[in-house]
Amino acid sequence: MNIKKIIKWSIFILFIIYAAWKFLATGNKPSEKLQNINFSNEKEKVASAKKKVQSETYTCPLHYEIIVDEPGICPKCGKTLVPKAD
Ligand SMILES: [Zn+2]
Repeated sequence: MNIKKIIKWSIFILFIIYAAWKFLATGNKPSEKLQNINFSNEKEKVASAKKKVQSETYTCPLHYEIIVDEPGICPKCGKTLVPKAD
């Protein structure tokens, strides 16, 4: 009976400690997690912005076979190249 009581109490105390530890651990983490999310979002934004710039191609309005990745003039007719719509 006594041992059962001790076991019961130690489990209870362990649970309290565990709950308190978990509460403290999760109490500290959200801000850290949020910062990580913001940071990765910022990184993704930069990456997608870079990707957008890289994926932007230019073409001649008269010669659609001309596709270059930077603004310029068409080597065939000298017309200014326009951004190519995907
Ligand atoms: Zn052209």
